[in-house]
Amino acid sequence: MKEPIKIKELQPQQRINSFDEVVLGYSEEEALKEAQRCLSCKNPTCISGCPVGIDIKKFISEIKKGDFESAYYTIGEKNNFPSICGRICPAEYQCRKACVFTKKNEPFASEQAINIHFLERFVGDYGMKHGLQLKIEKSLEFSEFRVAVVGSGPAGLSCAGELACRGVRVDIFESLHKPGGVLSYGIPPFRLPRNILNYEIENLKKLGVEIKTNFVIGRTAGLKDLLHQGYSAVFLGLGAGLPAFLNIPGENLCNIYSANEFLTRVNLMSAFKFPEYHTPVNIGRQIVVIGGGNTAMDAARTALRLQVINGFSPDVTVIYRRTEVEMPARRLEIEHAKEEGVKFEFLVQPVEFVGENGYVNGIKCLRCELGEPDSSGRRRPIPISGSEFQVPADVVIIAIGLRANRVLTSVTPELETDKYGNIIVNPDTLETSIPGVFAGGDIVGGEGTVIEAMGMGKRAAYSILNYLRGRK
Ligand code: FAD
Ligand code: SF4
Repeated sequence: MKEPIKIKELQPQQRINSFDEVVLGYSEEEALKEAQRCLSCKNPTCISGCPVGIDIKKFISEIKKGDFESAYYTIGEKNNFPSICGRICPAEYQCRKACVFTKKNEPFASEQAINIHFLERFVGDYGMKHGLQLKIEKSLEFSEFRVAVVGSGPAGLSCAGELACRGVRVDIFESLHKPGGVLSYGIPPFRLPRNILNYEIENLKKLGVEIKTNFVIGRTAGLKDLLHQGYSAVFLGLGAGLPAFLNIPGENLCNIYSANEFLTRVNLMSAFKFPEYHTPVNIGRQIVVIGGGNTAMDAARTALRLQVINGFSPDVTVIYRRTEVEMPARRLEIEHAKEEGVKFEFLVQPVEFVGENGYVNGIKCLRCELGEPDSSGRRRPIPISGSEFQVPADVVIIAIGLRANRVLTSVTPELETDKYGNIIVNPDTLETSIPGVFAGGDIVGGEGTVIEAMGMGKRAAYSILNYLRGRK
């Protein structure tokens, strides 16, 4: 068995001085070598691990033949954004975990599993470099219809792309001043360079999609206004933008941020360049990030870079109440965070924030042990009484999860939601309780992944096309 081809990366010391991309990608030669490792299985189990069902065996076989263009179109049949997904999909829980090289009882993909995501990224970047355009069935069948898409995250973008390819006139309404959703305000450029995102958004505009930013549906205009303004259908891709908090004493002290606020300030508002830009962010000397998901890793690595760029000694600690195995973050991000100097404290539960003059200066915590698995299947952390200790912190970033964005649903009672605020849809069509209004992505499924949101956006587009057919 040939060894996996390692991907080139910036050295940790280089990384922490900038927001440059960390993973550098495969060369053609490396992609060919990695593709050669694939067994082209008769029963390619990897495909079942891809939420949008990319024909992985086929696109890897095309790479093997050096036919990168065909590989690009094969991926494009299911996924319009290969350069994005190849960079940020949690492949170790998805396609790579389903690859035959991963054994059944392994918690995530084996190191031997084919590096499907890196190959996808290679193909996506090849397409971008050579100006390949996804094959479009541009038809006039739907050109009389206008559809409004609310939210420009992965779900909205993919729904808009699919509809525009079929001739529908699509307008996207986005409340922020830049499109992309989490891809723009959450995921830092060292994981997803903005030229990649901008390229994909520009491609969408070339299909005729218009993006109206600074436009909050539910405030600037209501959902009903859209339906009365000549849009035949609406897709809601509102995301899960509401941060969860710990609800423990002291949480209102200054310099305690939600990860969403912290990352938005830095990624979207250039807070690290204050006062050149208007939004400030406090860069602490001892920063503590609470949580174990991708958001926590992004916040920790961003915070560490801010410290180094501003001449402080790096001092960022992640506190997580379970162990490393249970961390939901991508394995690569955990490794990168460690290499860059982020410290980890596992089995630790914060119980109170303490401070002076209104500013946080520490967190009282309890040590935990793992008990029986909970509803998520992960072993439950149980605080050990009498184990209290204090962690010093002058900036705290809370990254313990995100909830449904309620800006629109709270003013639209006809839109049925569940107890978590997620929009209830017909599972087959993704239509909501309002006829002609469809929804997908995190606002329906709760916090998920980029590719899951894109998959739902695409499925909703097919349902919208059926709905429009019925209105002819
Ligand atoms: P979002 O991306 O949240 O987009 C929703 C958009 O709708 C936003 O731009 C919002 O401003 C807009 N909006 C909301 N309400 C309105 C309104 N009323 N009017 C107008 N606009 C509105 N997933 C991965 O697969 N890999 C990763 O590495 C990864 N890392 C992540 C890191 C962070 C920091 C975060 C927060 C999430 C990460 N995720 C990752 C999860 C992934 O980003 C989400 O699952 C995905 O973005 C959901 O897509 P969406 O389109 O449903 O929503
Ligand atoms: Fe088989 Fe893995 Fe190749 Fe898929 S990626 S065809 S499962 S070897």
